[in-house]
Amino acid sequence: MTTWLVTGGAGFIGANFVLEAVAKGIHVINLDALTYAGNLKTLDRLQDNPDHLFVHGDIGDRDLVTRLLLEHRPDAVLNFAAESHVDRSIDGPGTFVQTNVVGTLGLLEAVRDYWKALPAEKAEAFRFLHVSTDEVYGTLGETGKFTETTPYAPNSPYSASKAASDHLVRAFHHTYGLPVLTTNCSNNYGPYHFPEKLIPLVIAKALAGEPLPVYGDGKQVRDWLFVADHCEAIRTVLTKGKVGETYNVGGNSEKQNIEVVEAICALLDVRRPRADGKPRRQQITYVSDRPGHDRRYAIDASKLKNELGWEPKHSFEQGISFTVDWYLDNQQWVNDVLDGSYRLQRIGTDA
Ligand code: NAD
Repeated sequence: MTTWLVTGGAGFIGANFVLEAVAKGIHVINLDALTYAGNLKTLDRLQDNPDHLFVHGDIGDRDLVTRLLLEHRPDAVLNFAAESHVDRSIDGPGTFVQTNVVGTLGLLEAVRDYWKALPAEKAEAFRFLHVSTDEVYGTLGETGKFTETTPYAPNSPYSASKAASDHLVRAFHHTYGLPVLTTNCSNNYGPYHFPEKLIPLVIAKALAGEPLPVYGDGKQVRDWLFVADHCEAIRTVLTKGKVGETYNVGGNSEKQNIEVVEAICALLDVRRPRADGKPRRQQITYVSDRPGHDRRYAIDASKLKNELGWEPKHSFEQGISFTVDWYLDNQQWVNDVLDGSYRLQRIGTDA
């Protein structure tokens, strides 16, 4: 049986990945610190499943990680754990450095020592896959796309901490020979997305009849990828990727933020019309821009397509329609994860 140690598997992308992996017959050890972004509710359906073991803990806890590695002898470690919200990194960058940089270093050291002691055949097949972001490349003008050779130029404390973690992963390959793979992905959306991020936030506020905050002129462009496509890309890189390489993952779906917000409003107007029959787009309210807001991200994912045969299966229209329906059907999950410390308020204005 194949065993994977997945970190951050109670968060948005990690949990989607774990749910799919267990369904595919993988034995998963899920290590998560359960910050505000990690929620066991998301993993409810795995409660009695012997192929899923949840462990509450920190990726930077070397003793704990070492114990888990020796006890469960995973074939791969996939690192999703991170502080992931740019707005929060503006208000408190220290936590981002602690988890994304120091935590990743601790994890890498524990994994390196485990890998070094493996028998030759198992060591040969072992992989450490690091899940990262396109934000490490900085911002683009009207044209061009990020490739795997685009120089790193992170602009937020979040992306700077992710860039540092990517560099550590690279260094552990070059220095110690650790068989690593890194994926740099564009903005994800889909089920179980914590409602501080644009898409679930807008759905929640639209349903509550509240103003829909759009930063600046709303013309910032992101390349949106449905989360199930990202999970499939990660599995593809894990099984077919070339050790030491990085792979860009993107959705071929560049949209301005305002287009995303308007698409959600239009879907909700059909699925859950307002009592007064008015269009939800009238709830849109322009607010001051995020400090240092990157203007445009766009991914060139042709390396992943040409070398490993992966392409996204969902268009933005399909994915956003599915996502809006999922949130309408899972309002209880939204209520459960909003635990009191975060109630859809604006954050990230400290600059
Ligand atoms: P998320 O914030 O929803 O989840 C992060 C998870 O990590 C949470 O469950 C949290 O409890 C856990 N965690 C945080 N600190 C930890 C620690 N020290 N030890 C163990 N667990 C810890 O994030 P996400 O959106 O699911 O992103 C997952 C990964 O994918 C991150 O590395 C992120 O940088 C990357 N990524 C995200 C996107 C996106 O659009 N969401 C795009 C590209 C890359």
